[in-house]
Amino acid sequence: MLDFDYYNPTHIVFGQDRLNELDKLIPETARVMVIFGGQSAKKFGTIDRVKDVLKSREVIEFGGIEPNPQFDTLIRATELAKEKKIDFLLAVGGGSVMDGTKFIALATKTPADEYHNLLSHGFSPVPATDALPLGCIATLPATGSEMNMAGVITFNEQKYPFMSPLVFPKFSLLDPELTLTLPKEQIANGIVDAFIHVLEQYLTVPVNAKIQDRIAEGVLKTLIEDGPATFDDNEDIEARKNFIWSATTALCGSIGSGVPQDWSTHMIGHELTAMYGIAHGRTLAIVLPSLLRERKDKKHAKLLQFAERVWDISEGTEEEKVALAIDKTEAFFNNLEVSTRLSDYGIEEAGIDNVIVNMEKMGLTTLSESGDLTLDIVRKILVAAY
Ligand code: NAP
Ligand code: FE
Repeated sequence: MLDFDYYNPTHIVFGQDRLNELDKLIPETARVMVIFGGQSAKKFGTIDRVKDVLKSREVIEFGGIEPNPQFDTLIRATELAKEKKIDFLLAVGGGSVMDGTKFIALATKTPADEYHNLLSHGFSPVPATDALPLGCIATLPATGSEMNMAGVITFNEQKYPFMSPLVFPKFSLLDPELTLTLPKEQIANGIVDAFIHVLEQYLTVPVNAKIQDRIAEGVLKTLIEDGPATFDDNEDIEARKNFIWSATTALCGSIGSGVPQDWSTHMIGHELTAMYGIAHGRTLAIVLPSLLRERKDKKHAKLLQFAERVWDISEGTEEEKVALAIDKTEAFFNNLEVSTRLSDYGIEEAGIDNVIVNMEKMGLTTLSESGDLTLDIVRKILVAAY
């Protein structure tokens, strides 16, 4: 196992009918900005319920955070928060709203001429010293943003990840009932995103991290069982609870501590979202199966472990087990009505060249935990996925 620091201060409030507890979670004298997306939180009444609980406080609404939150929108929210002297941010929504709120938390403590700098640090922490405190009401299980220090922002048709321990939510409320209005395709996207978050921390060079591996395998098995159960039956609340907690556990830092991480699928997927508007989870489903086939020798040891321990494959040669595990993973996505073919998303094959050019421009030329996944290989992966 590698050395690591593991820090996660987020208070999770998990369960049904706990929205009233917001009153205790947010300081009594806070001036609160409630931040939400296009319409779901408003339309399904969550914003009204939140305002009702917080009625003794000054509350300002900021709606309209887009999926794949846009820099310009977040700057408008930041300026408003500065003007109104807001001192607590409450995100009500999915990953886009939570990530956007994290960015606003940092930007409100940043001079206007330095907003762009917040995007230029990638996976290294932003060198900020202050941020507004924030809390989340998570309405879409997928990203893990509710319990991590990461966000992804879109600027000029590029996706920029950022990190800062200052943006760990103070609390996140995970109420399965608030997710019942999700369309099936968003449930599917969330299952795929969470599954691949685990794989990008698990299918890497083995370092004998037994606890992390076994937690990762438990999360993967739970997603395999309770993901489809939630997708097929909106009323199965116990399956939904397990799916929600799987998505949070997948990216709260525990399984990624002390292990190498390979975020290649996410990095390639981000380009497909930025350039062609394909939903985050779907881009990952396109990239991952082809990437695993391309990298099966490099990832052999962990792929074999994945085959035997997650998919319970006991027969065949090692190569056959690995191949079957990848096929089963792809079928898992397809059974959630998520296509793994790039050509199914209305893109010409020539569009692959644009992705490569863009990745080069962004400096994304040496991916994977060992930095040996070059753009030639990215091209082969995307051609195979096409
Ligand atoms: P999302 O972009 O937050 O939301 C997708 C759609 O779901 C929106 O149209 C939203 O509609 C709708 N929605 C949300 N909650 C709903 C509900 N309860 N009922 C009905 N509709 C609802 O999706 P996401 O997958 O959670 O987030 C994706 C973003 O997170 C991407 O930008 C991705 O890059 C990023 N990401 C972040 C991390 C991280 O660690 N921070 C990890 C992976 C991905 P409304 O707008 O109308 O609310
Ligand atoms: Fe993701």
